Amino acid sequence: MNTSTQPQPIRLDLVSAEELRIQWSNGQVRSYRVSELRNACPCATCREKREAPPAAPGSLPVLSLAEAQPTRILEMKPVGSYAYTIRFSDGHDTGIYTLEFLRELGQAVDKASSDDSSSQ
Ligand SMILES: [Zn+2]
Repeated sequence: MNTSTQPQPIRLDLVSAEELRIQWSNGQVRSYRVSELRNACPCATCREKREAPPAAPGSLPVLSLAEAQPTRILEMKPVGSYAYTIRFSDGHDTGIYTLEFLRELGQAVDKASSDDSSSQ
């Protein structure tokens, strides 16, 4: 079996400040919310944060100014042929998003139904 046949991104589109679309070599298009990608950051720091026990009752988390603003993608760079790093507007860029991981995130965009034939 040839394992190098996994789909590759052939096109990356920031369709808006909050949505990224990736067109894959197998014809699939997936749509990603930028906040979803940021929250799913696989780097050690973010994983630790997500797994940290919730704050003590009564104490509200305090958001920094940067955290309170919608995060944007400033740059995406390929890492070899298996992953991308994403630089976010909050300055974070250490997460390595493997292609496998990216195909698990987001939502498939059905191009055939994008003209809304159900028209309600
Ligand atoms: Zn991270």
